[in-house]
Amino acid sequence: MIGLPKFLAPKPKTNRSFFIELDGKNVEIFPKLNQRAKRLILRQNSMADGFKLTMPPRVSLAQAKRFCHQHASWMSGRLAAQGQLTCFAHGQFIPLRGQQYQLVFLDKLRGITEIHQNQIWVTGGADFAPRRLVNWLKQQAKTDIQIAINKYEPLLDVKHSRLTIRDTKSRWGSCSSSKALSFSWRLVMAPPDVLDYVVAHELAHILEMNHSAKFWQHVSAVCSHRAVSQKWLKLNGGQLHQIRVK
Ligand SMILES: [Zn+2]
Repeated sequence: MIGLPKFLAPKPKTNRSFFIELDGKNVEIFPKLNQRAKRLILRQNSMADGFKLTMPPRVSLAQAKRFCHQHASWMSGRLAAQGQLTCFAHGQFIPLRGQQYQLVFLDKLRGITEIHQNQIWVTGGADFAPRRLVNWLKQQAKTDIQIAINKYEPLLDVKHSRLTIRDTKSRWGSCSSSKALSFSWRLVMAPPDVLDYVVAHELAHILEMNHSAKFWQHVSAVCSHRAVSQKWLKLNGGQLHQIRVK
């Protein structure tokens, strides 16, 4: 995908990646050769849709697969824990702009979604509140993203053509050759600087449709918190994707 920092890009489904069956579900394993690794290591990948497998030199794919099967119950445990992760339900806490807020679903059908101190009040009851909340979060994301666009466009001397807010699993933002920007609404849950950085990043792609040194110069020139935000996304981005709407 053009216009994506490496850590936001979809994991390449290389010839080497393979699936193993866990609890009736196919789970993808992404082997990665590491010359310095001493042993096989399994880790859940950042998008939590599979597992990374660090391979030391001279380990065959057959050995790697055997290793995965031996650790099937560990992987099942990880996936089960994920199923219990935050979802949009009454009483749950969700992050918004980096702060935790408790969800309060009210039975009133009509009304508005709003913040009351450290709570987010959503009407519509358990049936309609989650959908209403997502729509509200998308609107919040759009507002914050537009503010960042307004800030960075004059600084970079660029103009975008279109803005869309999506729920993309594989990336936080993208910029097409026609200067159309797209962002994940989940960015609004991250600390404000993170969303701000992703916007600067995608706008800089209007100048450079690659991740060359020149591209990073453009980003760094306008966004002083680039490195901190990149690190935050790398460490915590996956968790934002694990929050289930319903
Ligand atoms: Zn990029």
